[in-house]
Amino acid sequence: MDIERERNYQRRKAQASRVRTIARLIPVIKSIKPVAYHLLSSWEKQIRKNAEIDIAKGHEPPGAIRDRMEIGVAVLRTIGRAIIEDRISSATIEKLLNILVGEAIIKQGDKAAKEEFRARFGSAPPAFVLISPTKKCNLLCTGCYADSDRTEIKLSWPVLDQIVSEARELWGCRFFVLSGGEPLLYRDEGHTIMDLVEKHSDCFFLMYTNGTLIDEKMAKRMSLAGNIMPAISVEGLKERTEARRGRGIFDRILKAFDNLRQEKVFFGISVTITRENAYEVFSDETIDFYFNQQKVNFAWAFQYMPIGRAYTLDLLPTPEQRRWMFQRTWELVYDRHHFLIDFWNSGTATKGCIAAGRSGGYLVVNWDGSITPCAFIPYSPININDIYNQGQNLNQIWEHPFLADLRKWQKEYGYSKNHSKEGPVKNWIMPCPMRDHFRDMYELLQKHHPKPLDQNAAEALSDPDYYKGLVEYNQRVADLMDPIWEEKYIR
Ligand code: SF4
Repeated sequence: MDIERERNYQRRKAQASRVRTIARLIPVIKSIKPVAYHLLSSWEKQIRKNAEIDIAKGHEPPGAIRDRMEIGVAVLRTIGRAIIEDRISSATIEKLLNILVGEAIIKQGDKAAKEEFRARFGSAPPAFVLISPTKKCNLLCTGCYADSDRTEIKLSWPVLDQIVSEARELWGCRFFVLSGGEPLLYRDEGHTIMDLVEKHSDCFFLMYTNGTLIDEKMAKRMSLAGNIMPAISVEGLKERTEARRGRGIFDRILKAFDNLRQEKVFFGISVTITRENAYEVFSDETIDFYFNQQKVNFAWAFQYMPIGRAYTLDLLPTPEQRRWMFQRTWELVYDRHHFLIDFWNSGTATKGCIAAGRSGGYLVVNWDGSITPCAFIPYSPININDIYNQGQNLNQIWEHPFLADLRKWQKEYGYSKNHSKEGPVKNWIMPCPMRDHFRDMYELLQKHHPKPLDQNAAEALSDPDYYKGLVEYNQRVADLMDPIWEEKYIR
C-alpha cells in the first residue's frame, strides 16, 4: 500500500472509530441537548477543516470539494437532528452510524477485500451494488424507467443472497441499493426482501419503493432491523403524484410516512423530474411539505431519463430548467442544509459518473440476472446467472470489456485525475455518458453490442431521431452548464 493511501486509511479508521464511540454514547448524549449540539458543531468544523486541507492540495477542482463538504454537513445535520428529536430507533442509530457512516462512507468498505482487489486489478473495487430483485410491481406508473408490470420475472433467492455475500467478500461492500419493480413484492423459496436485509445485518440497504406496502408491521420490522432506509417515490405534491402513479396513491404514501415515523425508521423520498414538474418539485411549498411537515430525511431527485416505458425526449427537463434546478438544488444544500441529491446536477458529490463498477462506484444486477453499468443504461453485456452457472464470480463481470471501456471513459473525463498536474477535469455537473454525452455512449454501444434490456431500449438505439435529439439536447445543456463549471468550479 503506498504511503499516501495508508495515511488516508489510518485517518479514516480513526474517524470511524470516533463514530463508533459516539454511537455507543448516543442514548446519553441525545438527552443532554447542549452536549449533542456541541458535538455536532465540532464535527462540522472538522469537515470544513478537512475540505480546506483538500482544497490547498489542489488535486481536485476547488468547487467540487466545497460541494462535497456541504453535502457532508447536510448529512451530518440531518442525522443529528433526527437523533436529537428522537426520530430514529436505537437499532437504526447504531447501524446508520456504524455501518453506513463508519464502514461504508468513511472507511469506504472492508480494507482486506479492497487491498486484494487492488493488488489483482490495479484499482479499488466498486463501493456498492444496485440489485433489482423483481420486475414485478403493483402499480403501473406512466413512463416507468424499469417498464415494470405484473410479471413474475425475478432473481432466485440463492443468486440474490450470493450477490450480497460475494460483493462483501470480494469487494468489501457494506452498502447495497434495492430497486425494482417493487422490492417489497419479492418472494422466492419463501424468502422476502426483508429476509435478505436481516440476514446481512452487517450491511446497510437503501430501498427504492412505491411505499404502498409499508404497513405498521413492515415499518416495525424495518425499525428493528435498523439497516434499511426506504426512499418512497413521489412526483411532487398530491395531484402530480396521482397523475403518474394512480388515484388514491398519495394517501397511501402519507400513511406509509406515518408508519415509518411511528416506528422511527430513517426514510426519504425519490422524485423523477420531468419538464412538467421541475419547478413544482423544487418549490418552497414542496420542499417545506416533505422536509418540514412530513419529516423526510433525504431526497433523491432523478431528472427524467428517456428510457423505459413509452420513452420520449419531450419529458426531458429543458436546458434552462436544468440550469435553474442546479442553482436551486445547491441553494437548498448550502443554505438550508437539506440532504438532497439531484442526479445529475450533483455530479461533483461523486467526482462524476459512478457507473460500470468504477472505484467507489457501482453496477446493477437486474431481475433476470442481466448486468448493466447503471440503472439508467438499459444495455447489458453479461448475465449473472450464466456467470454463476459457469462457476465464476462478480470479478469476471467487472472485467467485461464494455464495463472496462466505460471506466476508461470516466478516467479520461476526469475521475481520479490530478487536476493541478494533469490539467482540468471535464464538467462534473454534466457527468453522464448516457444523458449528457450520448455520442460517446452510442459509440461504446456500437462497439460492444450489449443486449438491450427490452424492446424500448432496442427501438431507441435504432431510432435516428433519438440519437439526433439527445445529441442536440446535450449541446444545448453544455452551452448553459459549461460556463458555470468554468466560473464556479475550475477558477
Ligand atoms: S451513467 Fe449516468 S446515471 Fe449512470 S452513474 Fe453514470 S452519470 Fe450517473
